[in-house]
Amino acid sequence: MSATAVKNKVVTIHYVLRNDAGEILDSSRDSDPLDYLHGHGGIVPGLERAMEGKAVGETLKVTVPPKDGYGEPSGPGPRQVPRDAFPDDVELEKGMQFFAPGPKGRPVPVWVTGVAADHVEIDTNHPLAGATLHFDVEVVGIRDATQDELAHGHPHGPDGHGHHHHH
Ligand code: ZN
Repeated sequence: MSATAVKNKVVTIHYVLRNDAGEILDSSRDSDPLDYLHGHGGIVPGLERAMEGKAVGETLKVTVPPKDGYGEPSGPGPRQVPRDAFPDDVELEKGMQFFAPGPKGRPVPVWVTGVAADHVEIDTNHPLAGATLHFDVEVVGIRDATQDELAHGHPHGPDGHGHHHHH
């Protein structure tokens, strides 16, 4: 039996993400393909569902509505914080993600939506909140996850070792 994308498999995909206008928002084609651990929410829910049961070599086109993607925009919208609220050695760029202390002390993700000389604009909405996502996906690899990967809920590299980020 050949491997298919089911829970606890590390799945490797090439993908191109476009918006409704057909503009490319993101692509793995000019770099390494993306590894994710199937069934652990490492990719948007609508794409993960569409991947279920797919085999190496399969290609698929998936349209993901906001509710199964990055959600609908919510909250007060972008707000300005002083530039010196961020470390000096961090090069701030639009689209960067940070974690800020939220209510009850739980870190909440925030995204940089603009950078000016003296202030930075941040928002709790993902930059693609509210967007319908159009994915072209090719499955290029499927393997068993290691115990470490299952414990962490994400893949650690092509062979289960190598680069590791803090989390
Ligand atoms: Zn890890």
